[in-house]
Parts: sequence; structure tokens; C-alpha cells
Amino acid sequence: MRVTARLLLVGPPGAGKSTQGSLLAASLGVPHLSTGAVLREEVRRGSPVGRQVGEYMRAGELVPDWLLRFVLEHQLSSALDAGVVLDGYPRTLEQAERFIRSLGHAPLERVIELAVDDETAVRRVLGRAPGARADDDEQTARARLGVYREQTEPMLEFFRSRGLLETVDGNRCKETVAADLGALLRARARGA
Ligand code: ADP
Repeated sequence: MRVTARLLLVGPPGAGKSTQGSLLAASLGVPHLSTGAVLREEVRRGSPVGRQVGEYMRAGELVPDWLLRFVLEHQLSSALDAGVVLDGYPRTLEQAERFIRSLGHAPLERVIELAVDDETAVRRVLGRAPGARADDDEQTARARLGVYREQTEPMLEFFRSRGLLETVDGNRCKETVAADLGALLRARARGA
């Protein structure tokens, strides 16, 4: 059975991108590339770039594209060649346009939006392991949610108009969401 090998997961903080992303990647046999995780690792290493990245992340803001490129460019293009579940990039209309333009040889096959409402998103972020992430307090979570609604949601139309977007209700428990995602990919693989 052929299933999609280059997927992008999109959703607000707390949508379950990382939980579902790793499950999906394991079931597809491809890596899960979370740009947030890659950036956090850069911050943890304390490199000069990481120190700059950390300032944006702690404020709940997006890392500017010029800085993002230092950290991600290489990993992204090799991941796309091999198949990947992407989580976190692209996340603005501008990033999506550049992504499609520059990586046109390996386009995304599917974009899946994990839709969750604001209160579910904030509740889940605040319920994460305390101290695990520097950007998980309520004020920063709400700032990230605002950034998502303003800067990421407009990108969804870009993918919708290209026939790539599917939306899954991410408000439900993780097993139900995972089952829906699996069914969606199997239906696609059958050409339904
Ligand atoms: P969440 O989706 O829960 O906010 P992520 O781990 O995906 O968590 O991202 C955490 C932070 O990493 C974001 O708030 C942002 O600062 C930075 N980041 C991740 N991906 C990108 C991106 N594509 N462009 C700019 N900043 C990004």
C-alpha cells in the first residue's frame, strides 16, 4: 500500500502536532521533523545563532526567516528527499510560497490541519510537563496562539486552493485523532 511520504502537519500550539507527528512518521516509516524541536536543540547548545533564536521563542514570536535558514535549510532539503512528516515549517504564507518555489522538486503531497479551539489549545499547553518548555506559560501560550491565528491560518488557504489541505478535528482524544489520520491516509492511498 502506498501512503503519503511527504506530509505537513499544521495546527495551533497544543493541537497535538508532535504527538500525532511522531505516530504518523513511525507508521509511514519516515522521520518526523519538528522545526520547534530543532530550534530548541539549537538554543540548548547555546550557539550564537541559538541565543538569538531563543529570544524569539521565549517571547512566543516567530523566528525570522533569515535566522531560520541558518538552522533548518540543510535538514529540510535532505528530509524532503527521503520522505518526512514535517511539523512547524512552513508556518506563514511567505514561508509556504518560498518553500514551494525553492523545493519544487519535492513538493508536499498532503497538508493536514489539526484544528483545535483556543481554550483546548491553552489548556493542553499549560498541562504539559512543567518546566519542559520555556514558552509554555499562559501569557506566551496565548501569544503563540495569536501568532498562529494571524500568521499561520492565512497559509491554509494557499494549500487549500492547491487541493492539498485536509482538516482533522484535533479537539478529541489522541487515539481518536490518530485513528482519523490513519483512515485519511489509507483512503488517499486507495485513491478515494
Ligand atoms: P507550537 O506549535 O506549540 O508553538 P513549536 O515547537 O512548533 O510549538 O514552535 C515553537 C516556537 O519555535 C515557535 O513559537 C517559534 O518561535 C519557533 N518556530 C518553529 N517553527 C517556526 C517557523 N517555521 N518559523 C518561525 N518560527 C518558528
